[in-house]
Amino acid sequence: MRVTTAFKRLLRMPGASVVDVSFTADAVIVIVRLRRRRRVCSACGQTGRGLEIHDRRLKRWRHLDLGANRCVIECELRLLRCRTCGVRMEPVPWARPGAHHTRDFEDVVAWLAQQMARTPICGLLRVGWDTVGRIVERVTADHLDERRLEGLVCIGVDEISYRRHHRYLTSVAPTTGRARSCGAGRAATAPPCRRSSTSSASAKSRSGRSRST
Ligand SMILES: [Zn+2]
Repeated sequence: MRVTTAFKRLLRMPGASVVDVSFTADAVIVIVRLRRRRRVCSACGQTGRGLEIHDRRLKRWRHLDLGANRCVIECELRLLRCRTCGVRMEPVPWARPGAHHTRDFEDVVAWLAQQMARTPICGLLRVGWDTVGRIVERVTADHLDERRLEGLVCIGVDEISYRRHHRYLTSVAPTTGRARSCGAGRAATAPPCRRSSTSSASAKSRSGRSRST
């Protein structure tokens, strides 16, 4: 079996053809080609020949490690000039726009962030502290259901202390239905859901123990 075929089956990257593989002291570099030839704007999704090719650039993404080696995906992409958005690099199915890591890598980081503290993730995956934060933000934004606040008019926020040393559990709930958010911390520092809820002009909160957000 050819090495390119072996890597294609190993990586299973959507929309990519493996062209070449090289081994360096630091990493395995997998050079791929984007199978889609149609021009697509990464910002507005517009397609077609109205998007003029402005330039071409080599782009690299860190992928999940292969054994003890880092794995880097490399691909030449077109810079497309969109009349609405300006010059943008064309999107690829294996990575989120603007990311330096593949979707598989980012999804693993986000999953680990639910299971453990940030420091062990940095050691395990050999990434920086800030990188973990940026990846979690990107994956969360990608998976959040934008309809989650639809129909939300009035919310209640309450907190309960547990153990010692001021540990609190804060719940955010609409006045009817299930809790929207529940997490550790005081109401003053409670989950971002609250801020989104109150950004709605119609959002109100009940008085009493529940607090306005
Ligand atoms: Zn555009």
